[in-house]
Amino acid sequence: MRIVATAICVFGLAGSAAAADATLITGAAIFDGVSPDLIVGQDVLVEDGMIAAIGEGLDAPEGARIIDAAGRTMIPGLIDVHWHTSYCCAAQSTVVTGDILEIAIRGALGSERTLLRGFTTVRDVGGNPFATKRMIDAGEILGPRILPSGPPIGQTGGHFDYRPYQAVPTNPADSQWYWYSVGLMAMADGVPEVTKRAREVMRMGASQLKISGGGGVSSVYDPLDVRQYTMDEVRAFVEVADTYNTYVASHIFTDEAARIAVEAGVKTIEHGFLLSRETMELMRDNGVWLSVQPLLDDEDGFHFDDPGSQRKWIEVTNGTDATYNLAKEVGVKVAFGTDILFDPALAERQGAFLAKLKRWYTPYEILKMATSTNAELLMLAGPRHPYQAGPLGVIAAGAYADLILVDGNPLADIDLVADPGANFDLIMKGGVVYKDGL
Ligand SMILES: [Zn+2]
Repeated sequence: MRIVATAICVFGLAGSAAAADATLITGAAIFDGVSPDLIVGQDVLVEDGMIAAIGEGLDAPEGARIIDAAGRTMIPGLIDVHWHTSYCCAAQSTVVTGDILEIAIRGALGSERTLLRGFTTVRDVGGNPFATKRMIDAGEILGPRILPSGPPIGQTGGHFDYRPYQAVPTNPADSQWYWYSVGLMAMADGVPEVTKRAREVMRMGASQLKISGGGGVSSVYDPLDVRQYTMDEVRAFVEVADTYNTYVASHIFTDEAARIAVEAGVKTIEHGFLLSRETMELMRDNGVWLSVQPLLDDEDGFHFDDPGSQRKWIEVTNGTDATYNLAKEVGVKVAFGTDILFDPALAERQGAFLAKLKRWYTPYEILKMATSTNAELLMLAGPRHPYQAGPLGVIAAGAYADLILVDGNPLADIDLVADPGANFDLIMKGGVVYKDGL
């Protein structure tokens, strides 16, 4: 990949200095992220990382690269709103018991792969991706735009308490467990501690807070029905987020936990596989998002060493189908994410996860969700959103030049996005071409 990036730099140097960052793409059929109708016969001019113009017969600035995209469909760069840079791409044993340096390096390598699958933006809902994000944004390493939540915060015995059984009872003299001291996760109990941890995570550079409001699958001490955090504690998280003009995302499967979250002001419910119609209606009426993933007990199903986790996995994935159907019926806002964990090979299936939505949605609905709709969710971060120069998730004048040229029409065949290696001819982020198969 470094070779392609270098080649593009060389190309840029060959043009005039003023137009070195200009690219004119002609001949593509354009899915703009919003409209079900492809735009044909229009050129897209990219300048200085942004889409400068869309129109018929645009003039190429002197020195601009001209890309003939005839036969291709242009789509906005894809967005995954439930991604874990630190946990996706290293084995569970490495993430849980390994060295933060190895975890960070594997996360950085995984980020390059993520970008090369066409995911140009991710919301990172837990981990320590800050260094990776900084180096990606500086152009030093390759990867997507990252909206980091930083260490996800949970209660003692909750979904983010991955300490060994022997870790409790604690006493005040105990040092923090490694994971917590290196910012991979955080724990807080009671309103004062919750307030302090939340502020610490915002200080690290989070664009939103991620907490656990209910039982988890991969964690072993919290049955699914357990509510995590009291109303006062959840309110404290929301208040701190609000002082930073951003919001709280909460890991939740069940009704009661979701109701507390909605009442306290949480804006996105992560997962939600066991929610009832009434709860989804409550979310809809309060403008709360359902950030759900197409997790199924299929060929991509997760496998857990702990039999309790495996049972919980089955219980949760048994709810996936009903959850999507119900969400559609109720009309709650639905976002797309994958939540791929602990497996770089499975991470390569990120696009295949997107294509799995065809069980419930049309190709148009799927592509819209993974582009402009997901971008709308990201805007909940307000001034903490790190990428504010223009909109993400759309092909429009003034938007970030994050785009993909697909060999074929994904609005007719959504399976094209399942194999980006074969079907994505060009991947551009911020006007820079990271994959060029043309
Ligand atoms: Zn997750």
